[in-house]
Amino acid sequence: MNQEGHSAEPPAYIKFGEYSTHVPANIPSAVQQATDRFLTTRAARIAEMPQWEDLRQAGHEIRLHTLLNLDSYLETLAQKVEEAGGHVHWAQDAAQARQIVIAIARQHHVRSAVKVKSMATEEIGLNHALEEVGIEAYETDLGEFIIQLAGTGPSHIIVPAVHLKKEEIAALFREKLGVDAPADPIQLAAIARQSLRERFLAADMGISGANFLVAETGTLVIVTNEGNGRMCTTLPDLHVAIVGIDKVVPDWDSLTVLLKLLARSATGQKLSAYTSFITGPAQTDGEGGPKEFHLILLDNGRSQVLRDPIGRETLKCIRCGCCLNVCPVYKSVGGYAYGWFISGPIGAIFSPQILGTKVGRELPFASSLCGACADVCPVKIPIPAILLHLRHRVVEGDEFEKPTASPLLKPGVKLGTFALSKPWLYRLGTYWLPILQSPLRRDGWLPALPPPVNRWTKVRPLPAFVGGFRQWWAKRGKDRHAGGVR
Ligand code: SF4
Repeated sequence: MNQEGHSAEPPAYIKFGEYSTHVPANIPSAVQQATDRFLTTRAARIAEMPQWEDLRQAGHEIRLHTLLNLDSYLETLAQKVEEAGGHVHWAQDAAQARQIVIAIARQHHVRSAVKVKSMATEEIGLNHALEEVGIEAYETDLGEFIIQLAGTGPSHIIVPAVHLKKEEIAALFREKLGVDAPADPIQLAAIARQSLRERFLAADMGISGANFLVAETGTLVIVTNEGNGRMCTTLPDLHVAIVGIDKVVPDWDSLTVLLKLLARSATGQKLSAYTSFITGPAQTDGEGGPKEFHLILLDNGRSQVLRDPIGRETLKCIRCGCCLNVCPVYKSVGGYAYGWFISGPIGAIFSPQILGTKVGRELPFASSLCGACADVCPVKIPIPAILLHLRHRVVEGDEFEKPTASPLLKPGVKLGTFALSKPWLYRLGTYWLPILQSPLRRDGWLPALPPPVNRWTKVRPLPAFVGGFRQWWAKRGKDRHAGGVR
C-alpha cells in the first residue's frame, strides 16, 4: 500500500475496464426507453408530495449525521445483531470479506447458494470466488439472473439488464437454458421462475446485501420488487449478508424517511413491492427463517473516503439509480463504459475514491457537469462538486493521493488551448481532418483507428468527423437562402 492507503496497482479481484468490452449496439434506445419511463413515474410521485424538498433535506441530514457518527452507530448495530442471535464480522477489504464468506460456507458444507441482488457482492467479486472453491452461486433477481447467464455484470444500479431488449433476452434463454423462449416478458419471467425454483429449494446458503441496517434494533432492510429476497433469506438454513459500513441508519424514524425517498427516486413507486426486515436468525423452531445469520460489515476503502470532507458525501448514497436515469452521458454510453460494477454519476465519484484515482482516473472527467444528477439526488449529494474535487486530485494531487494524471495531459491541454486560440490553425485542422480520416471511414464511422490513438476504437466505433462548425454554419446559411428562408 502507498502512503495514501491505495494499492499501487488495482487488486487482482477488480476487473476494472472489463465491463467496457461488453458494449451492446442498442444501448441508446434500450437504456433511454427504460430510464425515461422511470423519470416519468418519478415525476408523477413527486408531484403528489408538496413536502418532497423537505424530505430530501431530511434525507441529506440523516445520512450526513450518520456518517459523522458512524463509529458509534456501527457499535450499536453490532451489539444488537449479536443480541438477536446473529454473528458479526468486520471485513477490512474485499479479500477479507470473501475469505469470511468462504470459511462460513465450508463450515456448513455448502454446495450451492442463492443470492439476492447485492452491489456489495459485486464489489468484492464474490461469485467468482465461490465458483473457484466449487460453490455454485445463483442470482435470483430477474435482471441479475439474465446478466449471470450472459456472463457480464450489471449495467445499472437497480436494473442490471437495462441494456437488453426482450428479443435479446429470449435469444439468451434459448441458448443458455435450452428452452423455447418467446420474446414475451411474462413468458420470459415464467421461464426464469421455473429455473430458479429448483435452485431455491436446493440451496444450502442464502446470500444478500442490504439497502439499510437499522442500528437501534440490528435490523437488515432489503427492498425488492420480486419477492426473491424473502425466498433467499428464509428458505436456506444459513443466511450471510455482506453490507457496506455506510448502509447504517440510526433508527426506524430515519429509515422511514429514506424508504420514502428510495422507491420514489428509483422506480417512481410509493414503496417497493417487498420491504423485508430481518433481525437475527429464526428465534424458535416453529418460525420460518434461517437457523444461523451472519452479517459481514465491509469497509473496503470507505473509512478512507470518510476522512475527506468533500468526498465523504459520496457515502450518503442510497443507490436509487436516479442520477443514472437523468444523466445524458450514461444514457448515451450505458453502464459498461464506466468499467466497474457501479456506473453513472455515482460510479464516476465512487470508483476513483474506493479504488484510488490511479484506477478509473478518467471517470471524473467523463461528465458534462450539467448538474442534473445533483438536482434529482434524493439525499442531495453534490456530485458535480465532487467530480471537480476528484479532477483536481487526479491532476494536482492532494493530501489523500499524489497526482495520477498521464504526463501527456498537461502538454496536451496546452496544445489544445494553443490550437483553439488560433482561428487560422483551427480552420486548417477542420479542413484537413475529414480528408485525412477518409481512408478509415466506413458509413460515417471510424471503426478502427491505428495505434497509439486506438484506445476508443478497440471498444466501439468513433463517429467520423464531418466538418467544423464554421463550414456547417456557412452551408446552413446557403441552404436557407436557396430555400427562400430569411
Ligand atoms: S448519488 Fe443520489 S441519485 Fe445517485 S444513486 Fe446515489 S442516492 Fe441515488
